[in-house]
Amino acid sequence: PLLANQIAAGEVVERPASVAKELLENALDAGANRIDIEAEEGGVKLLRIRDNGRGIAHQQLPLALERHATSKIVELADLEGVSTLGFRGEALASISSVSRLCLTSRTADAEQAWQVEAQGRQMEPLVQPAAHPQGTTVQVSDLFYNTPARRKFLRTERTEFDHLQEVVKRMALARFDVAFHLRHNNRSIYALHSATDEQSKARRIAQLLGDEFMEQALPIDIERNGLRLWGWVGLPTFSRSQADMQYFYVNGRTVRDKLVGHAVRQAYRDVLYGGRFPAFVLYLELDPNKVDVNVHPTKHEVRFRDGRSVHDFLYSALNRTLAEVRP
Ligand code: ADP
Ligand code: MG
Repeated sequence: PLLANQIAAGEVVERPASVAKELLENALDAGANRIDIEAEEGGVKLLRIRDNGRGIAHQQLPLALERHATSKIVELADLEGVSTLGFRGEALASISSVSRLCLTSRTADAEQAWQVEAQGRQMEPLVQPAAHPQGTTVQVSDLFYNTPARRKFLRTERTEFDHLQEVVKRMALARFDVAFHLRHNNRSIYALHSATDEQSKARRIAQLLGDEFMEQALPIDIERNGLRLWGWVGLPTFSRSQADMQYFYVNGRTVRDKLVGHAVRQAYRDVLYGGRFPAFVLYLELDPNKVDVNVHPTKHEVRFRDGRSVHDFLYSALNRTLAEVRP
């Protein structure tokens, strides 16, 4: 099973950022509304993610590290209506096969917390008592310490941390209701409180995308025929050091989709001829029955039941908003 897990890890675990993504999704699936992320040396030496979610019961702890030990799916038929982020049950097993992983957790009704450690070895993990508030901490140390070939593909500490930060950013842009704290090498990078009203949401955007973005961005909030598009669109004149500042969410999930990309590009092009392809953060909300988000779990594609009307709606909503500032 160790080898099988290491092979599976090749698909899930590419770098610290992909570990973070899996662990953050687990924390959200567990209903957490506060997540603390601590990284050292780009997340390679240490990645520790603590949440205040529902926790893992004592007898479930060693199972959580086993392959296909997902608690999130009962029957294959459930795949159709899967609403949680994870449903493959191999992230923890894969990660623990290529790192030193320590899992500590406490459920609401437990008298104390429990901990299991897996060190890339095939061994029934020992469950030991630990101190921890309700929720879960997953600590991943020395990523790829036992797979040197993979370790070789890691880039500099800076680059690995940039990727990791981008994962946190993407998620923090999607979940205003969750507080996120990110630290790297003992420095605070993000301290984001949960945001409920418009003002605090805008503040979070400014913290994540910069004050300069928010100063020039146009707010948008348009609803038509059960489709709602809201967020902030930047102008092509907005200069940024970062190449890719385009965030699009469908029902709270980050999406990189051809149809969406096309509609947005077209709207910008038709109204504000030329200029750089701008920065934006946009949220599309629609009836979940009208969109299939599980086309591919990692490629962020979606399939709209009525793609044409979604495309037309996006195009005209953005077109209308941008036309207000037409040069
Ligand atoms: P999946 O998320 O696909 O179910 P994982 O390997 O990521 O598989 O996790 C295995 C199981 O461990 C989950 O189904 C869940 O029951 C439990 N688990 C993992 N992380 C957490 C967490 N942060 N809080 C509560 N339960 C968790
Ligand atoms: Mg998972």
